[in-house]
Amino acid sequence: NYILAIESSCDDTSAAIMADNKVLSNIVARQEIHEEYGGVVPELASRAHQQNIVPVVDIALKKAGITKDQLSAIAFTQGPGLMGSLLVGGSFAKSLSLALDIPLVAVNHMHAHILCHFIDEEGYDKPEFPFLAMTISGGHTQIVKVNSFFDLEILGETTDDAVGEAFDKSAKVLGFPYPGGPLIDKYAKEGNPKAFQFTKPKVDGLNFSFSGLKTQILYFIQKNVAINPNFIEENKADICASIQHTIIQILIDKLRLAVKETGIQQIVIGGGVSANSGIRQALKDGEKKYKWKAFIPKFEYTTDNAAMIGIVGYYRFKESLFADSSVVSKARIEF
Ligand code: ATP
Ligand code: FE
Repeated sequence: NYILAIESSCDDTSAAIMADNKVLSNIVARQEIHEEYGGVVPELASRAHQQNIVPVVDIALKKAGITKDQLSAIAFTQGPGLMGSLLVGGSFAKSLSLALDIPLVAVNHMHAHILCHFIDEEGYDKPEFPFLAMTISGGHTQIVKVNSFFDLEILGETTDDAVGEAFDKSAKVLGFPYPGGPLIDKYAKEGNPKAFQFTKPKVDGLNFSFSGLKTQILYFIQKNVAINPNFIEENKADICASIQHTIIQILIDKLRLAVKETGIQQIVIGGGVSANSGIRQALKDGEKKYKWKAFIPKFEYTTDNAAMIGIVGYYRFKESLFADSSVVSKARIEF
């Protein structure tokens, strides 16, 4: 079966065509407009989605080599995300499913960041249930126990900022354009991760906190720039490496605790921050150090993309878990 998947929860408009659990095409239109504002402007995001959605779906169909009459279902991101952005993809999906008279499948975006590991890709193993998933993205930081495709339990999550925000806000302090996470990753490669020390937050159990670290980094930069105006330029690589190292330590510490508490040793990561080369390496290194088995998503499926919506769509389609035509988009949503 061919499934069209649509993702429009934040600032990327994406469409994918799945042939069951295989990806035939996965098109992402990035909205560069937000760079100059230092963050996503919701109203501009909605407008750009409306401009992009039809061409992006057309390109996805063309690249997959099929026509819309061959589709068996349409999957879309129901939430969580920005309401105005979700509504564009949701309304489009609903209309097309009515026009083609095929079922509609509503997908949770965070569920998709986890289940992207089930996309059939050469060279990528699939985890076995139960496994632990750490979602690390622009809006979330969670440790989830995944018992089956549709039975997920949140064991811990951030009490304030998400890890992606910690990256982006630190990058902003350093004067990098939005989103700065990938730039910190890039400069960190040349730097010494132990050059500067930041204290890790003390948070009980499997919860996270990143707002204190953000403030600490802000004060650290302000203090040093007051002494030496060229501090950032002269130490860019070391600063980035030190920030990234601290964040990775926080994540790895919690994963170790989660493994200890649950006895589950298979770990997957998902979400935009799972593109980070440092966290990918740390997860792999943990296989020897901490005896866990790590699943690292293909780079293409880390930041927002419709293929991950498509794989959840495929599993829901198989179980006939369809949405009816009164389905609504939701800014917040549970598993
Ligand atoms: P959510 O999935 O929680 O709804 P989102 O969809 O807006 O949030 P994603 O696209 O999943 O977020 O992830 C975007 C985040 O990933 C941004 O904060 C971005 O800086 C971060 N990110 C992307 N690549 C990297 C990288 N290489 N290193 C660090 N952070 C990165
Ligand atoms: Fe996301």
